Amino acid sequence: MTTAETSPSGPNAAGVRWDLSPVLTSADDARAVLNAGIARAQTFESRYRGTLAGITPSELQAALAELAEIENMLSRAGSYAHLREATDVTDPENRDLSAAIDRGMVDAGNALRFFDLEWLALPEAQASALAGAPELAADAHYLRSARRFAPFMLTEPEERMLAEREPAAVSAWQTLFGRITSTLEMEFDAGEGPQPHTIDRLLAHVRDPNRDLRRRSLEMLYAGLEPQTETLAQVYDTLVGDRLAIDRLRGHADPMDRTHLNNELDGAVVEQMLAAVEAHYGLAQRWFRAKAAILGLERLELWDQYAPIGAGRAVEFLEARDLVEASFGRFSPRIAAVAGDFFTGRRVDAEPRAGKRGGAFCAPVAQNAPAYVLMNFTDQMNDVMTLAHELGHGMHFTLSAQRQSALSMHTGLALAEVPSTFAELLTFDHLLETESDADTRRALICERVEGSFATVFRQTVLARYEQRAYAARHEGTTLTAERLSDIWLDANRAYYGDTITLPPGYRFGWSYIPHFISTRFYTYAYVFAHLTTLALYAQYRQHGDAFAEGYLEFLAAGGSKAPRDLLLPLGVDLSRADVWDAGFEEMARMVEAAEQG
Ligand SMILES: [Zn+2]
Repeated sequence: MTTAETSPSGPNAAGVRWDLSPVLTSADDARAVLNAGIARAQTFESRYRGTLAGITPSELQAALAELAEIENMLSRAGSYAHLREATDVTDPENRDLSAAIDRGMVDAGNALRFFDLEWLALPEAQASALAGAPELAADAHYLRSARRFAPFMLTEPEERMLAEREPAAVSAWQTLFGRITSTLEMEFDAGEGPQPHTIDRLLAHVRDPNRDLRRRSLEMLYAGLEPQTETLAQVYDTLVGDRLAIDRLRGHADPMDRTHLNNELDGAVVEQMLAAVEAHYGLAQRWFRAKAAILGLERLELWDQYAPIGAGRAVEFLEARDLVEASFGRFSPRIAAVAGDFFTGRRVDAEPRAGKRGGAFCAPVAQNAPAYVLMNFTDQMNDVMTLAHELGHGMHFTLSAQRQSALSMHTGLALAEVPSTFAELLTFDHLLETESDADTRRALICERVEGSFATVFRQTVLARYEQRAYAARHEGTTLTAERLSDIWLDANRAYYGDTITLPPGYRFGWSYIPHFISTRFYTYAYVFAHLTTLALYAQYRQHGDAFAEGYLEFLAAGGSKAPRDLLLPLGVDLSRADVWDAGFEEMARMVEAAEQG
């Protein structure tokens, strides 16, 4: 593997910065593309407004092609601004550009909004005839799925009233929640003297090797939350009440309906999945018992749940790059080449530095522009998995952009995290086969097991908690802090059983979770994506190269079909009751490996 053409690298990925010139070359450039995009959006509006009721398939095809072009221009300009700001949030020129983009996107959105509304207003027979026309085959799913909310739309004046009151009825409560939870600070001594700790900073200590620090930080968290819980419960009660009222108006029978529609998943499939997860809680409990034994404890306390076992060795960026490319190459030379292009094209920014944002992401940029990866590489084994994860998104964006239009390249929430999780599994397997340091192997395995649990089991607990809360509110019970705490503990006890002691303060564990406030039942999508990936991985184990070919097709299909239709050719049939078995077998295999250390 040649590395001569890449950025320089040393400890902490020194010098690994991206080159954005293939996207755009300056802020002025970005403004010019943005303004051209807005102008085209306005021309589009004057050309097509009021015409959808009588549009022919070929006219609609031309309209969609123009819409995709506009989307590409706006997305290129917007992504360029976003990427620049991500590596230097302090530069005023970057901030000015972002503000200009935000304003421009509103203008473009206003010009284009009529199109969706007119499409939704078409009679079903006419819309379905258009979507079925051969000229529109490429974007048929885009057209059909846009209409899935149509049966639940109210009249136009009613919809306008709902939209007008949204800032006060919904957003204001979400803002209040965000303000309380993000400004809450607790004086805490993590060993460097008392310092103000936010919720996130306290939670970061749960993976610390120091048991006392883990215990104290969780106890401090719950003590700090307690005085806020009545207000936080009131916020949640109001939002749940509002959502249920609007569901009634729209004709939704189940509080999960909107989420299922968003995810393009059938409610019965989701319920079957959640029940299958619950039926496997014993697998997690088995690990918690084993972990207690490994740590020399009689039984785990809640603060031992994420206690580290083993420690990963240091890995420099160039080695990480080789590891990821090699693990992808074993699966398919094609995806290894796609990943390689990110490095040779300098589309990865891995060096941590002042002013750069934290975390990691992969930005698709546009259908006619290359994707970029940002991360903060600190020579940890975990960073290798993050790199694999983001490049997994990258291969999805790259392959779907080659085959799909700007309108059809993106999948919904349910499948978006599948390629990234799959890429992690490929890298994990490769590392297990090649890594000789015993302590590193152990850390890798335990992190994988506990990462799966945090996604599959814990997010199911969260979804069950929400279901119970909505049901209680539906029956007229006000959601007080006391009642939410009881529901929360019930849902959690089903999971932990008698394997983990829950401290008294844990009853307030529901109070700071943002998903409940922003998007109801959001968490089950994580479960779905993770279990789907495990099921796909089991297919790969069984069918090898034949599976790899189909998987590349799946990536290239992007969002051109519903999840069930994308997964079926890969041997994952969502209509089957046993569809998740293979995923749990994969998890059981990992638990076994972890037990053996
Ligand atoms: Zn991701």
